[in-house]
Amino acid sequence: MKSTAGMNIREWMDSRVVPAEKMRYMTGGRDFIDDAEIAEKLERNRSNDPGRIKGILDKSLSIETLSPDDTAVLLNVTDDGLLEEMRETAAKVKRKVYDNRIVTFAPLYMGNYCVNNCSYCGFGTRNARMERKILSPAEIRGEVGTLAGAIGHKRLIVVYGEHPLTGAEYIHDSVKEIYSVKVPARKGYGQIRRCNVNAAPMPVDELKLLKEAGIGTYQVFQETYHHDTYSRVHPRGTIKADYAWRLYAAHRAMEAGLDDVGLGALFGLYDWKFEVMGLLYHSRELENTFGVGPHTISFPRIEEADASPITRKVPYAVSDDDFMRLVTVLRLSVPHTGMILTARENAGIRRKIIPLGCTQTDASTRIGVGGYGAKEEGQDMSDQQFTLGDTRSLDEVVRELADMGYITSFCTAGYRCGRTGGCIMELLKSGQEGRFCKLNAVLTFREWLDDFASEGTRAAGEKIIRKELDEIASRMPETVPILTEYYKRVENGERDIYF
Ligand code: SAM
Ligand code: SF4
Repeated sequence: MKSTAGMNIREWMDSRVVPAEKMRYMTGGRDFIDDAEIAEKLERNRSNDPGRIKGILDKSLSIETLSPDDTAVLLNVTDDGLLEEMRETAAKVKRKVYDNRIVTFAPLYMGNYCVNNCSYCGFGTRNARMERKILSPAEIRGEVGTLAGAIGHKRLIVVYGEHPLTGAEYIHDSVKEIYSVKVPARKGYGQIRRCNVNAAPMPVDELKLLKEAGIGTYQVFQETYHHDTYSRVHPRGTIKADYAWRLYAAHRAMEAGLDDVGLGALFGLYDWKFEVMGLLYHSRELENTFGVGPHTISFPRIEEADASPITRKVPYAVSDDDFMRLVTVLRLSVPHTGMILTARENAGIRRKIIPLGCTQTDASTRIGVGGYGAKEEGQDMSDQQFTLGDTRSLDEVVRELADMGYITSFCTAGYRCGRTGGCIMELLKSGQEGRFCKLNAVLTFREWLDDFASEGTRAAGEKIIRKELDEIASRMPETVPILTEYYKRVENGERDIYF
C-alpha cells in the first residue's frame, strides 16, 4: 500500500484515485452507463399489454435477471390490475429465493469526518456546525457492547466518511475490534458475527486489507447514475466528483476477492425510473464481467439533513406509490439479489414495502457517532448524517415481523463457510441455499429469543419457530435428526452452531 505519511489533506485527496484501476474496465474512455440509451429505452418500452407483462413476470419467476427492455416495460406500467399482478409476483419471487426470512442489522457510524461535500449529506465539508468525531477502540467496544450484548444484533453495517483519519487501516482495525467483543447474555453470549462496510471507493490493495479484516459485504452506492446530475451534486475538486472511480468500486472489490458487493442509489436526485435502470445495468455488468451480480441492492430515499437545502426541496422526490413501484420492479428485475430497506423509512411504509420482496432491514437504529451509548432518546442533528423515520427497537421490529409471518434470521454462516459471491448466487438460484438458510434461521432465532427477547416477542417468536419446524419436517425430513441435535444444543446455551 502507498504510504500516506506526511501528506496534507489536499495531497491525500489528490492521491486517492488510481486512474489505471478505472480505465482498464472502460471502453474508449466511456463507462457502461449510456444516459441516452437508458432514456431511449424508457421512452420506447411503453406497454400495458397483459401478454407482454405476463411473459416478463414468468422470466422473473424462473429467477432470471431481466433485460433493460423488459425492466423498462415494467417501470412504465400504469394499469392498476397489472401493477397488482407485479406486486404479487414480486412477493412470490422473494419467497422462492428467500422464503419468509428477513435478516436484521444495525448501522454503526465510526466517524463523521469527510473530505467530500455531497450536497445531500450532513457530513459535507460545508457543515461547519457538525461536531466531528471518530470512535476510539474503547468507544467501539462500548457501542458493540450495547449492540451485541443488550440488543442482540449479530450483523452491522459499519459506516465511514472519506477521510485520512478513517482510511483503510482504520477500517481494518475497527472491524477487528468489533469482532473481538463478546458479551454475556441471558443464556449464551452476544457477538457481532458479520460486519458489512459502507465506505468510500478504494484502490485494490486497500480492499485486500478489508478482506483480510474479514468484512462481509462492501457497499458503495452510486447515488445517481445520471452523469450530469452526479456532477451537480458532487462538487468538482472533491474525490467523490469522479463518477467512474465510484462506478467501478465494486469491480475493484471483486478483483480484491471481496465478492459480496452492495450497490445502491439515493432516490430523489434524479428520475427514479432512470436510477432503477442504472442499478440494473450495474448488476448486469458485474454478472457479465465476474459471473456474479451484487449481493445486495439498497434504495434509500433522501431524508432531511443538516446544512443540506437540497434535502428540504428534493429535486425528484419519490412519492410513496412510486417507491412501491420501484421496489417491486427491482425485485422482479434482479430476482436473486438481497434487497435492503432501512429505517430512513417510517414504520407504516416499512410494513408496506417489506412484503414486496425485501430481505434485510435495520432496527434499534442510531446514526449519531457514539449514538448507542448516548443517554438521551431522540435524534441529535449536531453529529448525524440525516433524520431517521423509524427508531423502534429490534425487539419491537422482530415481534411485528413475526406477526406478519416472517422469521428474523440472525444467520451469518454464509461468508464464514465460503458461501459468498457466485457460489451463494448459484445456490440461491437453484433453491439449495434455502435449505441451509432455513435451518440456520431457526437455530439463530432460537438463540436470540432465549438471550434477548421480551416476553411478548418471545411468545410471537415461538409460534413462528413451531411453524418452521413443521415445515422442515414435511419438506426436508432428512435434516430433522441433525437439526434436532443442534437445536437442543442451542437450547442448552451453546452458541454459533450452523450448517
Ligand atoms: N462516505 C461514504 C460514501 O459516500 O460512500 C459513506 C456514505 S454514507 C455515510 C451512506 C449513504 O447514505 C450514502 O451513500 C448515501 O446514499 C446515503 N445518504 C447520504 N445522505 C443522505 C440523506 N440526506 N438521506 C438519506 N440517505 C443519505
Ligand atoms: Fe462524505 Fe459520504 Fe456524506 Fe458524501 S455521502 S459527504 S462522501 S459521508
